[in-house]
Amino acid sequence: MGWRLLVHPFNSQQDLTIMGLIVQKFGGTSVGSVERIQAVAQRVKQTVEQGNTVVVVVSAMGKTTDTLVQLAQEVSSNPCRREMDMLLSTGEQVSISLLSMALQELGQPAISLTGVQVGIVTEPEHTRARILDIATDRLERHLQEGKVVVVAGFQGTSNTADLEVTTLGRGGSDTSAVALAAALRAEKCEIYTDVAGVLTTDPRLVPEAQLMDEITCEEMLELASLGANVLHPRAVEIARNYGVQMVVRSSWTDEPGTRVVSTRTQPEVLKDLELSRPVDAVHCDRTQAKVALLHVADRPGVAAGLFGELAHQRLDVDLIVQSIHEGNSNDIAFTVAQGCCNLAAAVATAFGSMLPQPEQFGATPEVLVEPQVAKVSIVGAGIIGRPQIAAQMFQTLGDLGINLQMISTSEVNVSCTIAASECDRATAALCEVFGVTQSSTSFKDSTLASDHQIPSVRGVALDLAQAQLAIRNVSDRPGMAAYIFQALAKQNISVDMIIQSQRSRPVAGMITRDIAFTVAAMDLAVAQALLQEVSAQLGCGEVTSNSAIAKVSIVGIGMLGQPGVAAHMFAALAQQQINIQMIATSEIRVSCVVAETEGVTALQPSMLPLGWGNGWINVQPHSLQ
Ligand code: ASP
Ligand code: MG
Repeated sequence: MGWRLLVHPFNSQQDLTIMGLIVQKFGGTSVGSVERIQAVAQRVKQTVEQGNTVVVVVSAMGKTTDTLVQLAQEVSSNPCRREMDMLLSTGEQVSISLLSMALQELGQPAISLTGVQVGIVTEPEHTRARILDIATDRLERHLQEGKVVVVAGFQGTSNTADLEVTTLGRGGSDTSAVALAAALRAEKCEIYTDVAGVLTTDPRLVPEAQLMDEITCEEMLELASLGANVLHPRAVEIARNYGVQMVVRSSWTDEPGTRVVSTRTQPEVLKDLELSRPVDAVHCDRTQAKVALLHVADRPGVAAGLFGELAHQRLDVDLIVQSIHEGNSNDIAFTVAQGCCNLAAAVATAFGSMLPQPEQFGATPEVLVEPQVAKVSIVGAGIIGRPQIAAQMFQTLGDLGINLQMISTSEVNVSCTIAASECDRATAALCEVFGVTQSSTSFKDSTLASDHQIPSVRGVALDLAQAQLAIRNVSDRPGMAAYIFQALAKQNISVDMIIQSQRSRPVAGMITRDIAFTVAAMDLAVAQALLQEVSAQLGCGEVTSNSAIAKVSIVGIGMLGQPGVAAHMFAALAQQQINIQMIATSEIRVSCVVAETEGVTALQPSMLPLGWGNGWINVQPHSLQ
């Protein structure tokens, strides 16, 4: 056995690391038949022969888990979650034992272990448990004996006296594999699946989609709806936090696949593996200025024209928001560095004056400038699927009496602009609430700059499973967003894009704004009913909804500090005559809501990363008339 011992700098509790240790995970189709299991055994054996020590994690064979769910439903319309775990965990027990036998048949010593036998300790939450800790002693003992250890994915054991069987949620065996790689300090974690790796967009919709060589964990998380089909987001989160290097590749070929890299220079100490802070960082940038262009035509090409002009001036726009339209006009607001405020305002004013005649829209395009604002953001993979986090941010700021001006969110980021003078108080409070010890000014500071060329857009994602909701005339004072999103969070309704409009309307002597957001289409009815109650309680206006929407997002770390990327996306949409209904951004993502029927067109080749950054398509404002 060619393995050595080494003191690992990041691990305080355990100081032995096995050299050449690889965790290989095989999904359901990869172990879908006896032949496939034998092929997997061959691959594992080869990896050992190349001098590696191997831990294998497998899913249940083929569609086994679905079949088990089906069986349960035939017996009970509402089976209890404990028994579901008992049932579903059997799927992986079949594949681990068969794979071990297949390895032994090839002369490769192997042993299969269930989650309990390994000591994959989770919270006692049946069907959706998070991993707290993984005992490594038994694994290490078997590895030292020269065995391949085949571990059941997707399952664990509760941290209670009863040692209950738990499962991690559908698709959870990726998470098991990466957590094992983190706990064992493995050199890498290879996820073998039935696709070649991560593609730039959905190949079923855009045949030109290309395979990526590399993607960062941050980008993978922002591409949630595209990436989640390939990798469980919780696995990406663990990989990022603990610096696990991951590869997604096909189990059918020897192609290298896509590297999913962690940019963390200092991985976290292994403790409460999955329950580490939902918010990784608090960013605060007090050097921004806000420019808003109000009452512009709600038709294709407006955002493209405005941001095209800004890009021509090499203005690097940070946050962009466009909320739902009112009548037939829209407001678009963005932030730039303070030093660029005058130029940006001039560009917006000039652009606004070229737009169609005001009579049509009831008001003249108007430019609002606020030369000094602060942008505060919370960032973290733990925000995904946890609606209480955004609500908690709004609550914290509301409790301090801080008014939120712009709000823009993505799955892993919530940003608000506030008065620059409130920056320190806001940051301190957010760090305290989310247990973050340090804040920084930008996302850039917390990621490792790569020495090779990073594309400005890594991938494009389409999400058709969302619906839009808006609440009109929310009074413009601290605590309102907090109240609304706390109410939704209490019902466990995850909100995706939240946008607060910039247009203010006086109602009964009070300034009001609209707040729009998207939710999963299946949550729409509940969310809408709830919002109606909230609106009545707060004295807000009408609640509107639209389920025929599509959300298109471009994601790339390379768009940091590069002007014109959003402009390029808007121009590509304008060229297809697609109207943008909402815009929200994070530092590495731009998302647009468009009509559902136009979602697929919006993904067309002009949106693909090829040639991004080589300029932008120029849409002349007068062509909009
Ligand atoms: N077998 C489980 C499922 O189908 C876990 C997995 O495959 O990742 O969800
Ligand atoms: Mg899977």
